[in-house]
Amino acid sequence: MPHILVTNDDGDQAPALTILARALRHVGEVTAFAPDHNWSAAGHTKTMHKPLRITKGTLADDIPLFVTSGTPSDCVAIALLGKVETPVDLVVSGINIGANIGHDVTYSGTVAGAMEGTVFGRPAIAASMDHVDGRTGDLEFAAEFIAKLSEQVLAQGLPHYGLLNVNFPALPRSEMTGVRITRLGIRLYHDVLIERLDPKGQPYYWIGGEPPTGEPEEGTDVGALACGNISITPLNLDMTDRSQLARLGQWPLQWGPQS
Ligand code: MN
Repeated sequence: MPHILVTNDDGDQAPALTILARALRHVGEVTAFAPDHNWSAAGHTKTMHKPLRITKGTLADDIPLFVTSGTPSDCVAIALLGKVETPVDLVVSGINIGANIGHDVTYSGTVAGAMEGTVFGRPAIAASMDHVDGRTGDLEFAAEFIAKLSEQVLAQGLPHYGLLNVNFPALPRSEMTGVRITRLGIRLYHDVLIERLDPKGQPYYWIGGEPPTGEPEEGTDVGALACGNISITPLNLDMTDRSQLARLGQWPLQWGPQS
C-alpha cells in the first residue's frame, strides 16, 4: 500500500486539508504534516534561525496529523528527514484556497510543499482551487480528482525533478468543462505600496491592492481556468532557461585574473 504525505500552506485547521487527506485514504496510507498557521505566499522557505516545534494529533478518520511551527516546505522536510518512519511514496500539497497559476508558483507555499518533496526525490502534486468573489468550487470533487491523479502518478512515475501543479476552477462539478494539460501563463499583479504612520509617527508599509488577474491565453493554466477547465501544469525544479545559454556564452565576460 503506498504511503502519501499530505501538507498544505493554509494551516492544519483548513477544511480542505481534511477533505484532501480523506480522499487520498482510498489510494493509500496517509500522514498529514501541516503548519500551525496560514503561510500562504511563504514560497520555498527553509527555517534556519529558530527551532521548530511539532505537535502530534489526528485529522478525521484517525489520519495521523503532525502540526509544526514551520513552513509547508519545512513540514515536508521534517517528515522526510525521518520524523515519519514509514517511507513516503508521494507528496501532495493542498488543496489551497486560491489558484496558483503563472508567476504565483514562485510565491506559493502550496507549490513549495510539493517542490520540497521533489527535492527529496519523491513524486509530488500541488493542488489549488480558484477563489472568485468569495466562493470556491467543489472541493470534494477536487479531492477525488487528486486521488485519481495520485494513482496515475504512483503507477506511471514523474520525470526527475518533475512535479504537477493542479488548479481547479471555482465552479460546481457540473460546470467544470474538462481537463487541460497546460503551461504556465502570465499573471498580472495589481500590487500597490501602502504607507501609513504608527502611533510614534514612524512609517510602516503594506503591499496591498486588488487581487491578481491573468492573460487567458490558450494552452496556459490561466486560460484553462478562464474556460472552466481543470488545469494540470507539469513543473520542473530545473529552472534553467536554455534559450539564454548560447547568447550568454557570447558576452565578453573574461574579467577574472586570466584576462
Ligand atoms: Mn494558501
